Parts: sequence; structure tokens; C-alpha cells
Amino acid sequence: MNENTSTPVTVIGLGLMGQALAGAFLKAGHPTTVWNRTPSKADRLVVEGADLAPTVGAAVKAGSLTIICVTDYPAMYELLGGTGVELDGTMLINLTSSSSAQAREAAGWAEARGARYLDGAIMAVPPAIGTAEAMILHSGPQPDFEAHRPVQLDALGTVTYLGADHGLASLYDVAGLAMMWSVLNAWLQGTAMLRTAGVDAATYAQFARQMAAGVAEWLPGYAEQIDSGSFPAEVSALETDVRAMAHLIEESEAVGVNAELPKLFKAMADRSIAAGHGGEQYPVLIEEFAGPRGG
Ligand code: NAP
Repeated sequence: MNENTSTPVTVIGLGLMGQALAGAFLKAGHPTTVWNRTPSKADRLVVEGADLAPTVGAAVKAGSLTIICVTDYPAMYELLGGTGVELDGTMLINLTSSSSAQAREAAGWAEARGARYLDGAIMAVPPAIGTAEAMILHSGPQPDFEAHRPVQLDALGTVTYLGADHGLASLYDVAGLAMMWSVLNAWLQGTAMLRTAGVDAATYAQFARQMAAGVAEWLPGYAEQIDSGSFPAEVSALETDVRAMAHLIEESEAVGVNAELPKLFKAMADRSIAAGHGGEQYPVLIEEFAGPRGG
């Protein structure tokens, strides 16, 4: 048994995700203590070798690292703020989903009780936990991340450190969701249009995947324009893009497909053109999202 896999870990919260996390630690060979409000959810893990702690306090005491993954932050406070829970000197990684403000507040709360605290966000579904596909984001003090990284890296998936600001993991989490839903909605728009011509979703999906990958290639260059605040029309001007948006809306309506989505992004582009940005390149629309200086 190597040093990493002999590290005792505690998992509090055994919903779908908590069970996957604890199962992955067990599989990697860690002595694993678990606790859940509904104890029966630990049954399978106990058969696999987990210790079921009688209380949250006992669970926290058992691990050199405590991972908590429950529905929301009020549940986390209820559990870790309860009587008999001693956080002083513990290492806490909170993988419960939250907002960035909640994450920062929780960091202050835990640190005031003497705990070291990393906030995290899981960008994966439970079956992926324990494989490299599971992306787990962390933010907070880097030395704490580096100290516990080998334990998590070996067991849970691809763990990533984002920065000292505890809110970053949550922000990346929701930014990733914005990307995911935008790509999926754009694909559904096209799928609905192509189906009116008898093209099935699977056929269009191959083309759509190439389009999405191609557009993704533009991001680093466009990001440079955003970071420099300068948007020369190197390949296309916004007013050219808006004419294409109008075609998309016309075509959607002509074939009886919902045009709300293209109307929404055309409205943003129209505002940007009205503000004098028609001759600039598409990323100038960042100002429609964030204001000229990003806030
Ligand atoms: P879940 O299956 O609904 O489990 C929720 C867990 O929270 C259970 O252990 C539940 O205990 C516990 N809990 C809720 N309220 C509680 C309270 N007041 N006191 C004590 N325990 C309480 O949810 P999940 O899928 O595991 O998700 C957990 C977290 O992971 C969430 O923040 C979610 O956003 C995040 N996440 C989930 C996924 C996913 O695909 N599932 C992906 C990424 C991130 P009981 O068993 O006693 O009810």
C-alpha cells in the first residue's frame, strides 16, 4: 500500500454522488469512513469495506481529509455546525454545488472554526467518478490542494486547481454549464430545422459536431481580443454576422421552427451595432454580457 492510498478519508453525504466518491476511495484502497443522514445508503459501501461512523463528529475525526457532498450549503452547515463536530485542525473539501458567494462564505465559516478549506465543483456524473473523465475543480489555498491532490487524483478523477479565491470552482462550474446548454440548444435548433427536410438527428449530429469543434478553435484568438479590449474585424464584421442571423430567423420561421433563440442573440447584436460596434468583430458582444470593463 503506498502513502497515498493509505490516507484515511471521510465522505459525508451518500447520495448518488457521495456514494460514487466513497466507492472510488475504497476502490483505490483508502481506509474510508462514511456518514449519511439515511444510514441505509451506506450498506453497499460497508460491504465493500467502508466504516459507517455513528455521528458526523466521529466521521470527521476518522479521516485526515473530509469530503462533504450533500444537496446544498444549508445541509452542509446543519451537519458540520452540529454539536459534537470538532473542525479545528481538520482538512475539509466541500464538493457540494453552490454559488461563488456561498463558497466564499463557507470558507470563512470553516476557517473561523480552525479548519483548512477547499471548495470544489464536480463536472461529471456519478458513474464517471474514479475515471480520468471525471473533472473535479478546486479553489482555495494552493498548499492544501497540493497536499491532498495525490489522494484525490489517484482516486476520484482529473482534479484541477483554479486559484486561491474560494469562489472560482463554482464560477467555472456555472460557466461550463452556460457553454453546455448553449451548444445543446444551438444543436437542437439546427436539428429541428433539418428534420423538416427529412434529415434525422443522427445525420445532422455528425455535421454539428464538426461545427462545434471548429467554432471552439476560434476561442483563444477571440479571447485575446476580449482581454485586450480591441475588436478589429479580422475575418468578419458584426454587421455581416447579423445579416446571417436574420437568415436563420427567417428560415426557422419559414419551416415552422421556434425562432426564440436566434431572436435573442440577434437582439443583443442589434444593440451592439446601435452602440456603434457594427464594424468590429463578434467578441465585442462581451459588452452586452458584462459591460465595457467586465463588470
Ligand atoms: P442526492 O442523491 O439527492 O443526495 C443528496 C445528499 O444530501 C444525500 O446524502 C442526503 O441525505 C443529503 N442531505 C440533503 N439534505 C440534508 C440535510 N438537511 N441533512 C443531512 N443530509 C442531507 O444528490 P447528489 O446527486 O448526490 O448530489 C450531491 C451534490 O453533488 C449536489 O450539490 C449536486 O449538485 C452535486 N453534483 C451532482 C451530480 C450528479 O450527477 N448527481 C453532478 C455534479 C455535481 P439523505 O440520503 O439522508 O437524504
